[in-house]
Amino acid sequence: AFFLSWPGQPLPSGPLEALASLKALGFPVNAPVAALSPDGQFTPVQRHALEMLNCRGVSYATLAPLVEEQTLQRPTLDWDIDGLVFKVDALALREELGATEHHPRWAVAYKFESPQGETKVEEITVQVGRTGRVTPVARVAPVVVGGSTITFVTLHNQGFIEGLELNIGDVVSISRRGDVIPAVERVVEKLTPGTWQFPDFCPACGSCLRKEGAHAFCPQPDCPDQKRFRLIFFAGKDQMDIENLGPETVDTLISLGLVNDPADFFTCDYDKLLDVPGFGPKKVDLIRAGVEKARKQPFVRVLTSLGIPDLGPKLAQLLIESGLKNYLALRDALENRAEELINLPGVGERTVESLKLGLLKPSVNRLIEKLTRAGLVMEAQSPRGPENTAFAGTVWCVTGSFEKFQPRALAEEEILKRSGRVVSAVSGATTHLLAGSGAGSKLQKAQSLGVSVVSEQDFLTALTQQRIPGQGVSS
Ligand SMILES: [Zn+2]
Repeated sequence: AFFLSWPGQPLPSGPLEALASLKALGFPVNAPVAALSPDGQFTPVQRHALEMLNCRGVSYATLAPLVEEQTLQRPTLDWDIDGLVFKVDALALREELGATEHHPRWAVAYKFESPQGETKVEEITVQVGRTGRVTPVARVAPVVVGGSTITFVTLHNQGFIEGLELNIGDVVSISRRGDVIPAVERVVEKLTPGTWQFPDFCPACGSCLRKEGAHAFCPQPDCPDQKRFRLIFFAGKDQMDIENLGPETVDTLISLGLVNDPADFFTCDYDKLLDVPGFGPKKVDLIRAGVEKARKQPFVRVLTSLGIPDLGPKLAQLLIESGLKNYLALRDALENRAEELINLPGVGERTVESLKLGLLKPSVNRLIEKLTRAGLVMEAQSPRGPENTAFAGTVWCVTGSFEKFQPRALAEEEILKRSGRVVSAVSGATTHLLAGSGAGSKLQKAQSLGVSVVSEQDFLTALTQQRIPGQGVSS
């Protein structure tokens, strides 16, 4: 954003003129692609601006070819764009058009179509996530869309597949929506009759799948795939951040039978890895170092790493700040005082229900016990020690210069540490003025208002005695 002013001259009628003036003054500007008018005619002032900006002035009839041209030029640009924006130039007209609740009426965006490609669905598999949700995924013949090769595309759920009437062997068109996530847009050529059907049983553990809303879930908590993803999640960067312990190492630990639940990361014998090709002593030492570092992660991390639905870092922090500093306190609150939790900001009935469902499970209870025995931090620490309230209720202003407190913010820090308040100007609410040498108008004002004036020496004494200057020793 920028502000322009033209002393003694009329303001530019719109961005076009403003940009031209800026360019004339030597500023680098990003000129529009083109200016459009109904018949391609422009006023002399506008024509001058267009010339200055090296910008084309064209008629509305040129709009379609212009969009086509820009679409073709897109890959040659040095930056990524996802569309074009058309704006009314005249500021007066913008004013008149105004805005709806959501957007101005004087600008409209044209989004380029997502890059697309056609390919054949070779296989549909289902993946079981750490929460048990089962997601169908299509493996397709590799196809390049928007510059990257796509082999796997999520199919979300049975409803999505039915909407497409998709089956294995069909030719589909694939786009990269927002140019990132590949998505199946439609079946282009139906080569296999019928629609692919979800399996009735979990491919990982054979349990009968359960439908919840649009999605299918594996109800077996011991399901090997769920377990695997829970372990990978727990060790992941945004959770316990166990360095040097990525998915491949987790898989190796599982296959050796060393790790069954997250607590095992902290107790298992990593020397057993030395027998596995690719795991030298150096690598194993790095893994152990990562585990030791993670063992000291704060409780809020431990809590969110459990992967309880809805229990992210924000909610975990909120619960801890509300005084629920360990698992027992959380469990007690969920079991006996759920209404209090519902009243926390941003926490509703639904959230509390999913916390109950997640945290009160016997399996989570057992895991918490194991993690405690493994020496993890299972209680949130107060950020400071016990609160020092020696100066509680006092309001300080600090002025002048000091021998021991340079800069004087150091003195202010001492006041804040003792629960006093610090203000920048003396007023009727000020209780103390800490006056160093060279104190001027603030000292006079304090004296006229009857505010206690404290010297550096008295202040130092008050700090060591932990009492408000001019008052008796507080207990
Ligand atoms: Zn399963």
